[in-house]
Parts: sequence; structure tokens; C-alpha cells
Amino acid sequence: MPSMIYRLQRIVQEVSRSPDIQHALDLIAQSLITDLVADACTIFLTTDDDPPVLTLKSSVGLNPEIIGKVTRKFGQGLIGLVASKAEAINLINGPGHKDFLLVPESGEAEFPIYLGVPIISHRKVLGVIMIQRAQQAFNEDDEAFLTTLASQLATSIEHAESQGRYRTIGSEKPEPTTHIVKGVAGSPGMAIGEALVLNRGMKLESVPDKRIVDRRPEIKSFDDAVRKVQEELTQQAERMRASLPEEECALFLAYAQMLNSGSLIDDTYKRIEQGNWSPASWRDTVEEHAHVFEQMEDEYLAERANDIRDLGLRVLRKLMLEQSPYIDFPDRTVLVGDEISATDLADVPSDCLCAIVSAHGSSSSHVAILAHALGIPAVMGVPNLPVKQMDGLKVVVDGYGGCAYIDPNENVLAEYGTYLEEEEAIEQDLRSLKDEPTFTLDHHRITLYVNSGLMADHLPSLRSGAEGVGLYRTEIPFQVRDRFPTEEEQYHIYSNVLKTFKGMPVVLRTLDVGGDKPLSYFPIKEANPFLGWRGVRITLDHPEIFITQVRAMIRANIGNDNLQILLPMISGQTELSDSLFLIHRVKDEIEEELGHDIQTPQIGAMIEVPSAVYLIDDICRLVDFISIGTNDLTQYLLAVDRNNENVASLFSSLHPAVLKAMRHIVEGGCRTSTPVSVCGELAGDPLGVMALLGMGIDNLSMSVGSLLRAKKVIKSFSLPEMEAMFGEAIQMTDPKEVREMYTNALDGKGLGGLIRAGK
Ligand code: PEP
Ligand code: MG
Repeated sequence: MPSMIYRLQRIVQEVSRSPDIQHALDLIAQSLITDLVADACTIFLTTDDDPPVLTLKSSVGLNPEIIGKVTRKFGQGLIGLVASKAEAINLINGPGHKDFLLVPESGEAEFPIYLGVPIISHRKVLGVIMIQRAQQAFNEDDEAFLTTLASQLATSIEHAESQGRYRTIGSEKPEPTTHIVKGVAGSPGMAIGEALVLNRGMKLESVPDKRIVDRRPEIKSFDDAVRKVQEELTQQAERMRASLPEEECALFLAYAQMLNSGSLIDDTYKRIEQGNWSPASWRDTVEEHAHVFEQMEDEYLAERANDIRDLGLRVLRKLMLEQSPYIDFPDRTVLVGDEISATDLADVPSDCLCAIVSAHGSSSSHVAILAHALGIPAVMGVPNLPVKQMDGLKVVVDGYGGCAYIDPNENVLAEYGTYLEEEEAIEQDLRSLKDEPTFTLDHHRITLYVNSGLMADHLPSLRSGAEGVGLYRTEIPFQVRDRFPTEEEQYHIYSNVLKTFKGMPVVLRTLDVGGDKPLSYFPIKEANPFLGWRGVRITLDHPEIFITQVRAMIRANIGNDNLQILLPMISGQTELSDSLFLIHRVKDEIEEELGHDIQTPQIGAMIEVPSAVYLIDDICRLVDFISIGTNDLTQYLLAVDRNNENVASLFSSLHPAVLKAMRHIVEGGCRTSTPVSVCGELAGDPLGVMALLGMGIDNLSMSVGSLLRAKKVIKSFSLPEMEAMFGEAIQMTDPKEVREMYTNALDGKGLGGLIRAGK
């Protein structure tokens, strides 16, 4: 049985790879007959109709004439029964079953013993496999085998279907359906543009060898290419400086420096000297270096391999396309790729870039957060994105719904054209709120802060009317370097933000790496990174890192006096008191060095680990304020990985359990007179704003793009209205119900356009 499964597994994989799904299905049907000693096998697949219909796609052992002609509704006949009940049937007398429906002229009457299993993916019945025998009942092993096969087949069919669906995109033949790809909402907004697929055409591995006689021109063209790439990267850093902070730009400079590495250049010279032309010499050098790193199976080194390949491609483009410009960017470029990096974004002139669609990544990927800050929609983690076939096609990107329409028909274009007009009207209305103070309809003052740290959002933040920085994530300056930043480097970064927001509070969070925020130069290998070494757990184990950071923060605060320090991933009092001890020690040392007293910053704890919820009073007594991190709190309370596309639909910060936990935190804050704020994504979600105000929170911190939307919501509701809704929400059992109630409330005020494409 095991070897049978593996053999069939290979055939199943064929289904996803093969351009001809029919052939692969026939192979499976044939193999099942042999392996399970059956007489007939039929495979029905579900159509996209509403209601869905099962159509016979493959049949071995029965009259082949019936293929494509037999259809069943869900619930109709034995096939329909398996589909509607979503469970297997194993019958020794199929024709005796009350639901049996004979297919005339099929020949099935000769084989009365039936075993049928559904093909299911993500709760959706994609089809049914039925095998039949003339005699000898199917046993449990047969049933288990067929179920295993069907589950593997489901994934492959999904993949093949999506690829097959796009095979005719852009062809002359009009497609009957619109090509929609679904992923996760990475950054809100909508755009219509032209797909530009990254790295199209040119691949290192496809460079051919070429013998040369004269080495000098090869060496010269190689040197020129390297120099041009170095210049380009430096210019990119310059260009991005307008929209990204210094530390982000360092990424591009680091790339440029890699090209100074002697071995990359010298090894290529050697190869040219041996008589191969420069592109192939470069190809071999890049491959050799990347491969050495990859072999070591180390996260940090593996990442270097990718960097080297990325650089390799850049130099190759210059070598091969010296005479022609690399890319003619469409005016409205939708950047499409399997994996889009920050440097890819920098390649596109910012006035051309209108959206991003990526096969991989999630809403918390670096690129998605960059997109958010740049104000462009992004759809991330699109399974089976037909990247290779998309270049040059028109694409409608819906960053609210997390979907994109490829080669859209006139109806979709017209629909989204209207949505875009509506969105512009909404934006205009929102801009008028910029300088208005934030009050609820019944005059309760609410404070709105921005989350920052990732990019140059300081100026947009100030312009949007933020009253301070509620969360400055300090990870990024650490992530864009290839070593820990020095105290001086950190001092400059923190001084900059504290000065920019002088007179307003700025909450700098201590390093929260680990989990999904790796440091390439501090590799951590763990089976469950989110339950592992992250946040304050790392910095307490490495006081030298923590102390350097806190020194930089406290020094930067001198003369600014607006610093608040926030500690991430606090799970109990000991971590908190250990951190407080170190912070106070640092402050005392700086005072000693300076010879005078300095201001003690306010110190707060993030409440994002469930244990902290139950220790809330004790934690509050140790700190000046608390800030709820709804992203991690939701992830840990619901046991749903915040970055996993497979469980994305279960991730809901409006889940009644999360709402109850937050209410408990707010009550703890009240009992101990500790200010409570919220800095997770929920604080910037218009529905979340209503829930958070309804539970008694009056201090929210969010990404700059969400601020005016949140303000609009707050100004449209009274506190009693929101309190009443919250009272209802926590009585509910299903997070969808909660979402629906808040959505209806928003719609009731004519504000539906704040959360979706179209009003
Ligand atoms: C959170 O967990 O809600 C939060 C604000 O922190 P981060 O997203 O950086 O983990
Ligand atoms: Mg967090």
C-alpha cells in the first residue's frame, strides 16, 4: 500500500504540473483500477456554476462515450450524495440504494459494488472519485487509501484549475468568466494598471557559454556593468531618501558594497581569463557563491545567497542589455512577482507605481507595510498567481478585498472605475478632517497617534494631524543592517523622531525581533518561532543589546523630553521588573556620566500575551501605561498564526473572546488608574475603532493611512451608541456576527466606503 500511495502521489503531482489535466485524471483512474483491483473508476469535477454541478471528467472501465455528458447536481444520485454529504460511501449493492440513479448505456450495472469519496479543499467539494467492482466488497484499507488520494488530488486540482483558467488570458478567445485571484489584503485601496512582472526574460541560468579570443573588451564591459549597478543602487538610495528614512536606504547601499567584494569580481576575472565571455563567467561566479551559502542550510547564509543572486541578475541585465533601457515602466505599474522585495519596489519610479500583487507574503510582510506607507494597495499571498502570464496585462487591484482581476472585462473596469471615483470623494472629505480635533458625536475627546518606525512616515504623520507616535517599532534599523546598530546610530534615529514630534509623546518600543521578524546576523532556528525566543525574552537574555538601545533612547530624550519606553511581549511581572531594573540602571549611569539629573521616561508594557491579561492589575502597578497589541493578542488567544494564509480566515481581532480579554485589560487599567492605549492593527480598522471606544478606550495608535478614516468614524458615533454595540458584540458567539453588526452600523451612517471598494 505505501508504494502504491507514493506512485499515485507522483501522478497526482502531474495533475498540477501537466498542461493537460485530462490526461493526468485518466492516468489516476487507470492506476486506481489496477491498484485497487477494481473494474471501473469515474472522476467527477465540480463546475463554477451556482449551484455547482458535477461533470464526469474521466472514466475507465465504463463506456467512454459518456465522458463529459453525465452531470449530477449535489444530492442527485450516488455521486451527488457523496458531494452533498461530503463523506465517503461504501456499498455492496449500489443499485439497491435509494439514491441510485443509473447512467443508461454506461455499463455500470455490471459493477454493483461502489466506493465513492469526495475531493475536498478548504471545505469546498471539488469533485468525487467513484470506483466500482463486480464482486468483492471494498474494505477499510481501500477506503482509507482512496480518501488519502482524494485529499492530495484536491490540492493539485485547485492548482491546475487556477493555472488552466489563466492559460487563455490575453488570448483572442474571450473568456466567459472574469479572472479573479484571491490573496490577503496587504494594503488598502484600489488601482487599475498594467502588470509588470519582475525579472522577466532574463535568467542567470539561461546565459549560454561563449568562447572568446580577446579578454580585454569582456573585462571592460564587466567592469562597466558592475560600476553602473553600483551607481544605480546608490541613486536608488538617494531617490528613496525622499520617502524612506536613512536606515531603510542603507539596504541599497549595503547591496552596492557587496559588489566591492573582491572574490565576486576576481573570480569572474579569472573565468574571463580562462576564455569564457563575461555574462557566463559572471553566471558561474554568482552560482558558485550562492550555492556555497545555500549548502550550509543556515538562515543567515541562505539569505546571503538570495542577495547574491539578486545582484547577479542586476549585473547581468546591464551586461546583456547595455544598448536598450531595461524596462519601459507603464504609467500605472502594478508590480507583480512571486516574491517582491523592498529593492524591487525601489526599481519602479514612484510616480509610476500604483499597486502590488505578490504570490507570497502576508499583510505583515515588509513589502505590504511599505505599500501601506506609500499609500498604494497591495494584495499578498496569492496562491497559484499566474505570474509568467501576466506581464503587460491590465489588472484591477482591490487592496480592501485582497483580490485582483487580471485582464478584466468591461464590466469589472466600469465597476472599479466608479469605486475609484467614490474613493476619491471619500479621500477629499477625509482630508478636510485633518486639522479637526477628534471628538465623538457626544463630545468625548479621543487621542489618535501613529505607528511608525518602518519608514519616513514622520512628515505624513504630522500632516495627517497625529498627536504623537503611539508605537515606534525599532526593529527596522536592526533589520536593514548586517550587524547590530551602534549606540550612536540608534541615538541619531531616535533623536530624529523625538525631535520631529517634540511636544508630543513618542513611544519607542524596545527591540521585538524573533517570530516573524528575523535578524539576518542573529539567526534563530526554532520549530515554533512565535512561541519562542522573541521580544523582551531575547533582550533580557542579551542585556548588552537592551542596554545599548535604552542608552540611545534616554540620551536622545535629553532636550526633547517626550520619550516613553514600551516593552514588548511581557508575559509576567518578573520580565517587567528585570527590564525596569535595567532601564533605571541605564538612566542612573547616564546621569553619573553627565553629572546632572535627567528626566525619567514613562515606561509601559505591551499587553499581547494571554498570561499578561490575567496578571493585568499586577502589571499595571509596575508601569506608567499599557498598550494593547491586538495583532499578537489575537494570534495567541485564538492560536492562529498571524502570517499563515491557511488560517487567515480564523484570525479576527473582533472575535468575542478577544473583545472580552480586552475588556478585562481595560478594567484592570481602570482599577489601577493606568492609561490604556491600543496599537495593534485593530486600532486602525474602522470597525475596530467602534469596538475599542465602546469598551472604554480613548487612545488609539495606527498606521498613518488609517488615521483620518478612524477620525471620521469617531466623529460619526456617540459613545453610548458604541457602548451599546459593544455590549451586544460580547454576547455574540461568532466573530462574523460581530463584524456584520459593526459593518451595518457603518453602512447606516453611509460610511461603508471606508472599509470596502464601493460605498
Ligand atoms: C501587536 O502585536 O499588535 C503589535 C502592535 O506589535 P507587532 O505587530 O509589531 O508585533
Ligand atoms: Mg506584537
